[in-house]
Amino acid sequence: MFAIAKPEPAKGLVATDVSQVTVRTDEVRIGVTHAGICGTDMHIYQWDDWAKGRIKPPLVIGHEFVGEIIEVGSSVTEYSIGQRVSAECHIVCGVCTLCRTGRAHLCDNTNIVGVDRQGAFCEELVIPARNLWPINSKIADSHAAIFDPLGNAMHTVTTHPVAGQNVLISGAGAIGLAAVAMAKANGALTVTVVEPNAYKREIADTLGADLTLDPTKDDVVAAVKSHIPTVLLEMSGNEQALITGLNALEKGGKAALLGIPSKPVSLDLAELVIFKGLTLSGVIGRKMFETWYQVDNFVCHNPDAIDHIVTHTLPATEFQEAFNFLEQGKAIKAVLSFK
Ligand SMILES: [Zn+2]
Ligand SMILES: [Zn+2]
Repeated sequence: MFAIAKPEPAKGLVATDVSQVTVRTDEVRIGVTHAGICGTDMHIYQWDDWAKGRIKPPLVIGHEFVGEIIEVGSSVTEYSIGQRVSAECHIVCGVCTLCRTGRAHLCDNTNIVGVDRQGAFCEELVIPARNLWPINSKIADSHAAIFDPLGNAMHTVTTHPVAGQNVLISGAGAIGLAAVAMAKANGALTVTVVEPNAYKREIADTLGADLTLDPTKDDVVAAVKSHIPTVLLEMSGNEQALITGLNALEKGGKAALLGIPSKPVSLDLAELVIFKGLTLSGVIGRKMFETWYQVDNFVCHNPDAIDHIVTHTLPATEFQEAFNFLEQGKAIKAVLSFK
């Protein structure tokens, strides 16, 4: 069957033909209908330092998807054939201290679909039933396919209360843009977005940002003087964006950091964090499954916002074009159709 894979340790992906995987008793087989291209997939496509250290080719990649159950393992009782589902792509152990205390997103034994094991850019995906998320019939396929990154956005937005706060978001990729709409829905007083790409700033405006700034031209700290940010959502992973964000935050402010810097960052901890009494929180993955309930609710009530984030839907065979658009900053979220 058709799949998109990283064939060798070099830039690029190929269309390939893979054989069927056996379904174990606690697993289900899903006929994938749509899959989103994530920043992680772009790292693997580009074969950057992170990918070199983590990915063992050949590997079918992809982890954001929606599809229909076509086979259930013998011990699976809560799901049936024909059901439309997505799934949490972090397969955790379920028995470690973190898993057993409501912090499974931090499990040391995490196995990620499309990173550590066969991915969702394939006509079929086999996954443990406990990772499934049933999709509400009100939700469009292209929206259901991206619950995973929407979950990252929701996890970041809910790390610190945003209701009544001035929120600063640095980085307006798919997750940063989703965070704009979610922060607004969660009662943020103002949302300011810092993003160098004009196309992305325009979408941030559409999604309800009160102010969008270009960090290559605008003085961010001066521009937010009238509504000093109390919450920073760092989605870019860019060192300068992080420093600017911390600089702009009010004393006692709170920062949730989701963007992953490609190398260690250097910052004046004394001036930027300690003397300002800031709280910094690292955010990884999605809370299982609290975040999924929140995203479900958000997507059901805000389909228009998600429409602005899914800018491209293409047949899976045209994946190269989708990666080109994303690499050139001309697409926000591209969804591949496997139908
Ligand atoms: Zn993802
Ligand atoms: Zn665990």
